[in-house]
Amino acid sequence: MTVNTESTTLLVIGGGPGGYVAAIRAGQLGIPTILVEGADLGGTCLNIGCIPSKALIHAADAFHQASRYAGESPLGIRTGAPTIDVTQTVAWKDGIVKRLTGGVGALLKKNGVKVVQGWARILDGKTVEVGDVRIHCEHLLLATGSVPVELPFMPFGGNVVSSTEALAPETLPEHLVVVGAGYIGLELGIAYRKLGARVTVVEAAGRVLPAYDDELVMPVAASLKRLGIDVHLESSVLGLAGDGLGIRMKNAGGEEVAMEADRVLVAVGRRPRTEGYGLESLLLDMNGRFVRIDNQCRTSMRNVWAIGDLTGEPMLAHRAMAQGEMVAEIIAGKRRHFTPNAIPAVCFTDPEVVVVGMTPQEATRLDVDCISASFPFAANGRAMTLESTDGFVRVVARKDNHVIVGWQAVGGAVSELSTAFVQSIEMGAQLEDVAGTIHAHPTLGEAVQEAALRALGHALHI
Ligand SMILES: Cc1cc2nc3c(=O)[nH]c(=O)nc-3n(C[C@H](O)[C@H](O)[C@H](O)COP(=O)(O)OP(=O)(O)OC[C@H]3O[C@@H](n4cnc5c(N)ncnc54)[C@H](O)[C@@H]3O)c2cc1C
Repeated sequence: MTVNTESTTLLVIGGGPGGYVAAIRAGQLGIPTILVEGADLGGTCLNIGCIPSKALIHAADAFHQASRYAGESPLGIRTGAPTIDVTQTVAWKDGIVKRLTGGVGALLKKNGVKVVQGWARILDGKTVEVGDVRIHCEHLLLATGSVPVELPFMPFGGNVVSSTEALAPETLPEHLVVVGAGYIGLELGIAYRKLGARVTVVEAAGRVLPAYDDELVMPVAASLKRLGIDVHLESSVLGLAGDGLGIRMKNAGGEEVAMEADRVLVAVGRRPRTEGYGLESLLLDMNGRFVRIDNQCRTSMRNVWAIGDLTGEPMLAHRAMAQGEMVAEIIAGKRRHFTPNAIPAVCFTDPEVVVVGMTPQEATRLDVDCISASFPFAANGRAMTLESTDGFVRVVARKDNHVIVGWQAVGGAVSELSTAFVQSIEMGAQLEDVAGTIHAHPTLGEAVQEAALRALGHALHI
């Protein structure tokens, strides 16, 4: 086979949010850059993750709302029973994905990045092969992301699906069993329930969203109950039932029980994509399953960089993007380090959950003397007008100097508060700064100000 060779300064493997942002920034900075993507530009995030899941959640919410209006609605709105054409819903979602991935392609082109379509195979730290093209580079950036974890006794296929297939259903199941009550399992489980499917969630831990504290999770657990989602905690799935149309599981009492289900969504986590493309041959230092990086995203091999899901938790798109932008700037000669004070995490459940910085429990564990205070949405006018009074905003601040070290919130639309939360922490705000800022009325943001006021001992509206 004839091999064509190319040379570049920066070669990025993976066109997800980490890789494409790195390539765009590198292009802006005048660094000759090639980006190799085997599937679609935009990676997990744009094609099978963040964006499609939020689209499906929105469609499910709209349908659920319409179904409420067909029954009793305190707003006085009455409609007929709605119907849904899932094929059209998925097509609408695909349209958004196409617009965004097309936009990424256009931005890469505009910034002079050459995109090579194909699966990269690493030959050494400076050489990669894509089909019959061999590309030499000065800097190799690994941004290959992650894949869903499969249960060995219940592999993906047929009725057993990962989030990828769950985001593009051809039909709705009668009964969906969701294995795993992390954010992906709950976001999709709630969406399917709102679309009309019966949904059961099976989780090995003692609560849903096990990464978060009881207080935060309580409004979500209450909502699951209200929506009619069955939740089995301290339970583990053992495998498919004999006829393949259900599962066997061990329940909290240790009994083995069977449950019929015409679809099973396995959402037990994601693992970094470290195999199948020659990464092993570089013998990079690893950090468990992840590629080990320093605070500039350098791996243990000179001029080999790694970012995003490949490199550890939190496996979130905005972390990958921030790392990608930074690596491009370092290669261009700027002094940068990846040392954020906080990285926001959002669950787009109903209600939504936001966690930024330290929780009170983490502060105690780290021996940081903190005060914390919550303000409930039940006392917020805007929340009442949105029929969304469940939940609260909580602030955590150092006792000695009132510097804010954490914010958490649970409630309708609180994802949008993450911006204010993370900005206040990055800017080193004290409780007094937030308490003394005039917040627009009526907004959910007033609960942010009131939480800070409450931590200072003088909340006004409670
Ligand atoms: C259902 C779901 C919902 C999510 N929701 C959110 C959310 O709301 N917010 C959030 O922040 N995060 C969310 N995430 C996580 C988010 O999608 C990831 O953190 C993010 O996409 C990671 O970016 P990345 O660039 O590291 O990798 P990826 O986005 O996984 O991109 C890696 C790319 O590399 C390509 N690739 C891999 N190997 C090769 C190779 N050898 N040659 C060529 N190309 C290769 C892949 O095809 C892929 O396109 C969600 C994930 C899922 C699954």
